[in-house]
Amino acid sequence: MSLGAPALSNSAMADELYDAVAVAKEGDPLFPVTVVAPSTYAAVAARRSLALAGRERRRAGVAIVTCTTLGQLTQQLAAPVLWQQGLRPVPGPVETETVRTVASAGPPSWVRFVSHPRTLMALRAAFAELRRLSPAALETLARKDVRGADVAALLFAIRQHLHDHGFADTLDVREAALAALGGGDPLPEDVGAVVLLEPPAFAPGESALVEALGRRTTCLSLAVPSTAVVSERWVCAEPEEEARRAVRSVLADLEDGVALWRQAVLHPAAGGYPRLLHQQLAAAGLPSNGPEYLRLDRTSAGRALLGLLDLATGDWSRSQVLAWLASAPVRTGPGGRPVPVSRWNAVSAAAGVVRGLGQWRDRLARLAGRDQAETDEALALADFVSDLAGRVTSGAAGWAARAAWAENLLDHYLDPEGTALWPAEQRLALSQVKGVVRSLAELHTVSSGADVASFRVAVRAELERHHLDTTELPGGGVGDGVFVAPFDQARGMRFHTTVLVGMADGLVPGRAADDALLPDELRAMDDSGTLRTRAARAEQLLGDVRAALAAGTGRRVVTSPAVDPRTGREQVPSRFLSVLSAPDGSGSPSGASAPVRRVDSLVASLRGPGPVQSPDEHVLRTLDIWTATGADVLMSPPAQYDGRLRTGLETVQARAGRAFTRFDGLIGSGRVTPFDPAQPVSATRLETYAECPRKFLFERVLGIHERTLPEDLWRIEARDRGSLVHAVLERYVAERIAGAPRSLARLLEIAEEYLDQAAEGGLVGKPLLWRLDRAAIARDLHTFHAEEGDLAPLAVELAFGDEDGDIPAVSVELADGRVVSFRGRADRVDRGSDGELVVSDYKTGKQSGIARLGDDPLDCGRRLQLPLYALAARQTFGPDDGVVARYWMVSGERSAAFFELELTEALERHFADVVGRIARAVEGGCFPGIPGPPRDTGFEVCMWCDFDRVCPAGRDRQWAAKRGSPSLLPVDDLLATAVAEPLSASLVRLPVRVHSAQETTA
Ligand code: SF4
Repeated sequence: MSLGAPALSNSAMADELYDAVAVAKEGDPLFPVTVVAPSTYAAVAARRSLALAGRERRRAGVAIVTCTTLGQLTQQLAAPVLWQQGLRPVPGPVETETVRTVASAGPPSWVRFVSHPRTLMALRAAFAELRRLSPAALETLARKDVRGADVAALLFAIRQHLHDHGFADTLDVREAALAALGGGDPLPEDVGAVVLLEPPAFAPGESALVEALGRRTTCLSLAVPSTAVVSERWVCAEPEEEARRAVRSVLADLEDGVALWRQAVLHPAAGGYPRLLHQQLAAAGLPSNGPEYLRLDRTSAGRALLGLLDLATGDWSRSQVLAWLASAPVRTGPGGRPVPVSRWNAVSAAAGVVRGLGQWRDRLARLAGRDQAETDEALALADFVSDLAGRVTSGAAGWAARAAWAENLLDHYLDPEGTALWPAEQRLALSQVKGVVRSLAELHTVSSGADVASFRVAVRAELERHHLDTTELPGGGVGDGVFVAPFDQARGMRFHTTVLVGMADGLVPGRAADDALLPDELRAMDDSGTLRTRAARAEQLLGDVRAALAAGTGRRVVTSPAVDPRTGREQVPSRFLSVLSAPDGSGSPSGASAPVRRVDSLVASLRGPGPVQSPDEHVLRTLDIWTATGADVLMSPPAQYDGRLRTGLETVQARAGRAFTRFDGLIGSGRVTPFDPAQPVSATRLETYAECPRKFLFERVLGIHERTLPEDLWRIEARDRGSLVHAVLERYVAERIAGAPRSLARLLEIAEEYLDQAAEGGLVGKPLLWRLDRAAIARDLHTFHAEEGDLAPLAVELAFGDEDGDIPAVSVELADGRVVSFRGRADRVDRGSDGELVVSDYKTGKQSGIARLGDDPLDCGRRLQLPLYALAARQTFGPDDGVVARYWMVSGERSAAFFELELTEALERHFADVVGRIARAVEGGCFPGIPGPPRDTGFEVCMWCDFDRVCPAGRDRQWAAKRGSPSLLPVDDLLATAVAEPLSASLVRLPVRVHSAQETTA
């Protein structure tokens, strides 16, 4: 343990303790004295205080003084008696496992209760409270006819189990200590006289022990001063602001010469304060220590171990495996690489893995076979999961073997050799988590079963019970930095300043729900008052808060949150404050000695007096002052020296202005061009630009796509359904071109094969919805077959402009003489009844947009496929008898059967005009977001866009504000496209077909 400063030093209490020890020694410097402190922290502080008191006060040093707690002293006194009884104090994990084992053999309600670590620990806490009763009172309680009495009855069974296996619980230890004190045997030599340092309110059993001690030796008591009052009160916006206020208080004291070890920040049990306080202190570069620094189950090692145990008892769902991989710096094995979590997330999603080891094996293998770019990672992931499954499901038997197995798993996947770059506290946590695991080996003494589920409950319960012991960290020991602790832990300690946070009703005192295990009805039956009712617990808390306040000898600061951030509800200051603020502690006059100050926000606190708490706050305060003077914030010193900050400020300024800038999607001309003949473009690429240029930038230039996770898939995605139908029709038409007759049976047979493959590939969602979708696809294929009629197919998937293909790209010459080359793939080409070429592009889904097309069949560039495919067909099969291109709507949800467009010279001119406008805008580097008119749930263009959640909510206002910017002229030109000459286009509606029952099976 590191040697920190004594928290009692330089205080009247240190003198009082020194004097009390001197009195207890009765003039014999070598006479032993035991100081009994309320907590181990207070005991350490008392020991250091005594050690330095002589030096600081120029008084004689003290020797042969033991500083301990009542619990430790009780164990010391009880040891000889317990030894005679053949018992030893039960270790924590053994006690927890005993509770679980005994309750598991009881009625089903107990079995359910102890199968969850939280409720198991609640039961254990209830037993700890019951053990403060005497054995006689406990037996009386167990005979009562109330629900909670079952808990007392169960405790007897647990105690018996412990005794049978050689363990003593705290009640046995206390009884043994009482027996030792009541017998004629001498006390242990080093106990000597006893000084009780600020004793809390003892339960009758504990009082009996202290009284028995007093009969055997000198017992002195140093009581809590009762007149400490609040000297400063702050109402802060929320708990995080309270934490910042506490840090400001620490810094202000530091500037006044008050050392960190002379300051404490104390908090209630609820409200998440320990994490907030340690985080804010760390952000300010201030060391801190305390009992609740970091719970072991929340460390990397704790999360990794619990995740492994969850996997061992889970269903190998993709989300569970990925969550474990992301929970800690997991490696592929000793000396192996860190697992590429994000990559494996993408690969497993692409493979369609949802759950089950079979899917990890089969679907990853299938992905490896069909996608060369993913082959290596898919195979690596499959191997990793297979190896992982082998390790976590291996059948270690017995607690010791199970503990060794868990430690090996940690060593294998966290590779201690590779933890050099971990933060020191996480490295320490790894060793402490392994220590907890090793302690479970002893559980075989009380429980034979060590299946994975039981082991998992035991591990979780222990990790949730333990916080990181920071004493091995540099600056992490008692007295190193600011003391951060619950209120009751400050009893028996002294600081210059105490800051009490969370002083709001609902937190202090907490919500007054009855105890489910030991309800007030049962507690009221305890005549000794040992089992405290809700009212008594509130009274005890007031005592703890009073002691915490009294621990501050110079300043006593109290803060409360104005709002609960989880619920948004207003919070009223704690009712205790009226008592604590009164000079005489009476509650009257309320708050007279402590004026209330408010901090409504971070900005308000930055503008307030006092030091800033971190470098970031210093920057924010400077920017705020600079802005208030009306000067350009970009010229402020922080913006001048920090490039990233400057860019961020520039971004905010630019987006709020009227000019279209690089922060809005202006990337500069020539960086993206559709004029490279060696790189033909697709029609859909340009269509995307016409739809929304920002979407084009994200999707087509930057290659960003939203990934649908297979576990979120309820039914087959529209795009997968479209691909599936296209694949079925491609195969069918290809067979017809090869000479096969027109056949509905063959079409459905092909569909069966493809639909089964889709289901095996995990693309189809929930089984019930897939049955409906499958039936709908079957109906669509019947309709398709009927509408196909006598068409004679010439080509299927007519590919043009492919690097390896025979058919060249389609080139379109623009008005300025430049040429745009297109590539693409027309779904099919047929010879019509009048000899004309009929080019079809299948469309699945509703296609209401096609039904709404007006005078411009190209819809200002949003529909370019038909003229392009018509040009490709003419280029391939000759111009003789004309070309008709059509969208063939092959879905039951359609609003029409076909949309047909005849290839004419007027259409070619219009096509070239539209392509030219798009090409110039793309080459101009303009990519604004154009959301379209607002709709109930967003904007028309954004409804089906992957980037809806990424684009700012005010995207319509941004677009409206920048519309007139000169940089956007090419986009304005595209939006102003009009049809110059009449075009031949028509929507063909056919009578709705009624399907028979057989038509819905495929
Ligand atoms: S969400 Fe809307 S504005 Fe943003 S990229 Fe998509 S379509 Fe464009």
